[in-house]
Amino acid sequence: VWSQVPQGPPDAILGITEAFKKDSNSSKINLGVGAYRDDKGKPYVLPSVKQAEQKVMQQNLDKEYAGITGVPDFTKAAALLGYGANSAPLKEGRIVITQSISGTGALRIGGAFLQRFYPGAKAIYIPTPSWANHKAVFLDSGLEVKQYRYYNKQTIGLDFDGMVEDIKNMPKGSMILLHACAHNPTGVDPTETQWKAISDAVKEGGHYPFFDMAYQGFASGDTDKDAFALRYFVEQGHLPCLAQSFAKNMGLYGERVGAFSIVTASTEEKAKVDSQVKILVRPLYSNPPVHGARIASTILNDPALNKQWLVEVKDMAERIISMRALLKENLEKLGSKRQWGHITDQIGMFAYTGLTAEQMTQLAEEHSVYATKDGRISVAGITSANVGRLAEAIFKITVL
Ligand code: PMP
Repeated sequence: VWSQVPQGPPDAILGITEAFKKDSNSSKINLGVGAYRDDKGKPYVLPSVKQAEQKVMQQNLDKEYAGITGVPDFTKAAALLGYGANSAPLKEGRIVITQSISGTGALRIGGAFLQRFYPGAKAIYIPTPSWANHKAVFLDSGLEVKQYRYYNKQTIGLDFDGMVEDIKNMPKGSMILLHACAHNPTGVDPTETQWKAISDAVKEGGHYPFFDMAYQGFASGDTDKDAFALRYFVEQGHLPCLAQSFAKNMGLYGERVGAFSIVTASTEEKAKVDSQVKILVRPLYSNPPVHGARIASTILNDPALNKQWLVEVKDMAERIISMRALLKENLEKLGSKRQWGHITDQIGMFAYTGLTAEQMTQLAEEHSVYATKDGRISVAGITSANVGRLAEAIFKITVL
């Protein structure tokens, strides 16, 4: 039956992991995966997560289905974390929210909802470059995917003028995906002043903003600061939708904890949109898993645990920030003539090194350092023990 099925290409990131596993060099380094590692290079379960999990266990809860939109205590707290206590639509009860299968599932529900109900053209614009899965998620949702300029190869920074120009040239009422913070893969974010201009341009065009917030707290270590763009847009009267993930900021990767929300104009609109989100989710997966949501809910709703979690998120963010500084420092000590300021300017889990695909191949083949061919390295994979060797490897392939 399946003889006509064509062989598909392997996932780019999984391919790196395979090559890494095969390498017998004992000091090999894997900077491909977008998951946090501690300074020993090991996966990290947050102490607040362990404690929350114990609290959940002690309650001896049953395993009944959650409703279609998930665990209410979790979604309420997720909305509060994202939009902030002062959010007018939150206070006025105008935000529709549903639990989702982490951030990817949130994007997918969003794509499906927009495909079904967004009036007008069904094209969504994503930045160049963007997280590789954005295009696939929105195409599979039945949307057309177009791109806007975002990254400037020359400056290894934001192409702000290009971005705003492209937003201005989009057909009126276009949908636009924005990375709320810690842009993946570049680590390049607009400044607060630039976000204000972007908000104006989106408003002028009557465009519809879709925020993907997969790294709240992980970028700066401050969950409010990282939500600036989303909250500013809401204050300016935009009615965005939002994909939230708790994979990175709570380290709940495999538990698949996320939320998708839509800001509506009135409680009447909210009721209608809410009914359609439920109709959409029901045949997709009926209702979401409860365990991870209970953990996240406990962390968000228990004041002591919440406080502890915020310290732990900050610690993760700061370890990454310090590894950026160490990498740059080591490259400079080796006498690299290149500018490496972008490594410390960029934010979040990834650094976009500006290295070419050939140089990335050289890094893997000659130095056993593995990362994606676009020059993106996961700073979370750098440790105080391997940063020196990493800097030497990058120095050797860039010194001509
Ligand atoms: N959006 C972006 C930009 C991401 O980087 C990620 C994780 N790599 C996600 C969404 C979703 O991840 P998850 O489904 O694990 O929450």
